Amino acid sequence: MSLRARLTLYYTIVLGAVLVLFGFAVYGLISVVQMRQVDSALERAARDLLFVARVDDQGDIIFIQRVAFDSSVITQVWNTDGQMVGVTQTIDPQSPFMQPLDAAAMESEDRTFTSVAVGGIPYRVLTVPLHSNGERVGVLQSGSSLSIFEALRTDLVRYLILLSGIGILIAGGVGLVTGRRALAPLATVTDTALQITRADDLSRRIPPPSDPEDEVGRLITAFNDTLGRLEKLFLTQRRFVADIGHELRTPLTVVRGNLDLMRRMGSMDEESMHSIEQEVVRLSRMVEDLLVLAQAESGKLPMDRRRVELDSLMLETLHQVRVLAGENVKLEIGKIDQVLVCGDRDRLRQVLLNLMANAIKYTKPGGVVTVSLSKDETGTKLAVKDTGLGIPAEDLPHVFERFYRGDKSRSRSKNGAGFGLGLSIAYWIVRNHGGDIEVKSRVNRGSTFTVRLPLADENCPDATSELRLNTPFPAKETTEPQPGAQPERTS
Ligand code: ADP
Repeated sequence: MSLRARLTLYYTIVLGAVLVLFGFAVYGLISVVQMRQVDSALERAARDLLFVARVDDQGDIIFIQRVAFDSSVITQVWNTDGQMVGVTQTIDPQSPFMQPLDAAAMESEDRTFTSVAVGGIPYRVLTVPLHSNGERVGVLQSGSSLSIFEALRTDLVRYLILLSGIGILIAGGVGLVTGRRALAPLATVTDTALQITRADDLSRRIPPPSDPEDEVGRLITAFNDTLGRLEKLFLTQRRFVADIGHELRTPLTVVRGNLDLMRRMGSMDEESMHSIEQEVVRLSRMVEDLLVLAQAESGKLPMDRRRVELDSLMLETLHQVRVLAGENVKLEIGKIDQVLVCGDRDRLRQVLLNLMANAIKYTKPGGVVTVSLSKDETGTKLAVKDTGLGIPAEDLPHVFERFYRGDKSRSRSKNGAGFGLGLSIAYWIVRNHGGDIEVKSRVNRGSTFTVRLPLADENCPDATSELRLNTPFPAKETTEPQPGAQPERTS
């Protein structure tokens, strides 16, 4: 059953139930009010008759005056011998009114109201036992026909059923029409989704909704967002495959060329072997980088989180990259605060190495690279600033994407051919530490990479608190690389 039909059905069932309850309430209320009116008419008639009734010396009931009575009510007075001593209507001897209206209630000791059939007609009867000086002298019974009220109630039921039926039909019809109108955009969503599947075209979008804030509008916006994300992922994956193919082609061509050469020469050429070895090392590095990246992106990068003195790690790393800078680039230390963060020392070193090596790599001789570290109550801010080539504005949003290399010719410098993976790895390592990384840059003026990290809290284990079991092997240094890490390497 379609959603529209289901909604209409639920809606109609609820409305039907409400109408039935309402009908019962109206019927019950009218019945009670009518019965009260009849009962008070019977009481009035009984009172009027008793007002003119007396008991004579022989103990008989007599009436001292004639009174005009409501013709819709018949009142009988019976003595204890079972004889009718008074009646408010002229009745012929064959009439059922010659008998007590409610014979069963005649012996009642209390004033009672009963509903009985008199001559096949429904009657409401009031029975009042009559006493004089504590002695029972007779019984009074007043009765009124209920047939008019019953007819009224039957009509009422008929009209209630009719009107409820019409109401339910109208509600169902209106529900179907409004349901179709309200759910029409969903049909568009379905059609677009099917078109996308058939045409394999993720660039399609559902036309923007008229009201982006209602349920369907939000669904369309969410669906379009998902499509956008899927498209981006799809393009990234396609580019990733293309990039890998591209990266593999050059080293494999070199390896093949050298192998061919050696085969033709019929001897092991030392230079060719060296060239093959270099390319194989390069390829292994790329594969390792990709594995680390894949782990980091999925948040599954194994990390040994401990307290790390970021200031000393920073100075240590700066010392390591001095050899890259040589005489060409000046390394400066800016303001360095003492900072403790909770993280994996080797991974953090990898981030610092990448940022510092890049800063040196993309800075012309005579340039300056400055590192600084500050902290406040929200966390710590680590900056690597250079006066180098800078990054064009159109490249800036992409520098943290994998395989992204701004200017391919310049990155294949003598300092080592980069794959464009270093900053992606750095980005994900920082993210896995609960921090963020950003870059500001101007072409030919230089770049500043800023890493923000949360400070270590009291739950973070101490760097030396590692549990050491009785092991025959020497204790592991905390700075030793973790499996899959290449801490001493530049991108
Ligand atoms: P690569 O191995 O190519 O250096 P990265 O991921 O480390 O890969 O960097 C990606 C790209 O970002 C580089 O190719 C370069 O274009 C740009 N880049 C990174 N750091 C800097 C910098 N300090 N100055 C200028 N460009 C930079």
